[in-house]
Amino acid sequence: MYLILLGAPGVGKGTQSKMLEEKFGMVQLSTGDILRTEITKGTELGKLAATYMENGGLVPDDIIVNMISKYLDDRDLILDGFPRTLEQAEALALILEKQNKKYIILNITLDDQLIVDRLCGRLICRSCGTSFNIKFAKPKVEGVCDICSGELYQRPDDKEESIINRLKLYHSKTKPLIDFYRSRGKLTMIDGNRNSSEVFENLVEVITKEIK
Ligand code: AMP
Repeated sequence: MYLILLGAPGVGKGTQSKMLEEKFGMVQLSTGDILRTEITKGTELGKLAATYMENGGLVPDDIIVNMISKYLDDRDLILDGFPRTLEQAEALALILEKQNKKYIILNITLDDQLIVDRLCGRLICRSCGTSFNIKFAKPKVEGVCDICSGELYQRPDDKEESIINRLKLYHSKTKPLIDFYRSRGKLTMIDGNRNSSEVFENLVEVITKEIK
């Protein structure tokens, strides 16, 4: 089974994916994480992707679909950050049909202003990927991860200008996926304006019903 998590940047898809991985024994597949790893390794793909990612742009569909296809195997996956455009959703639909896969789609919602507040203050652990926030979820020791003592950093695209660009692209390119999946009767909306354990409980409830 694939779990497809939709929602704007900053609604908590990454945090929830990590909790869901543990709960349901699934594997998180984050296109953003895969691309950042390629950038760190200095690969051709990483160099190309960085030119789009720095300013909050989207990496072209053909590159993303080609990259992600290699990971879409028979594991139970949580897709975090893919699909992000109608073209990607159509490519995924073909793959799912071929594989005869069951899938669940959950869309986490949050107001734009709250997203900007969350992303501007976001810090991420370099080692385990846990997110903190300088206003809402401070680490116990400044700059240090509570979970693994790793170093916390701010993503280069979590600057206000890039955030605004990412949100604009979300509204023009990714939000239409809500209607795409709704018209296929395949979408559940989740209110992201709650603390992460409440959102998690809601997700677990919906997923548990769906997989029964
Ligand atoms: P994320 O970690 O999901 O916020 O993604 C970080 C950045 O990676 C995005 O702002 C895009 O530049 C790029 N990216 C991630 N996933 C995709 C995708 N499915 N399509 C295009 N670009 C993507």
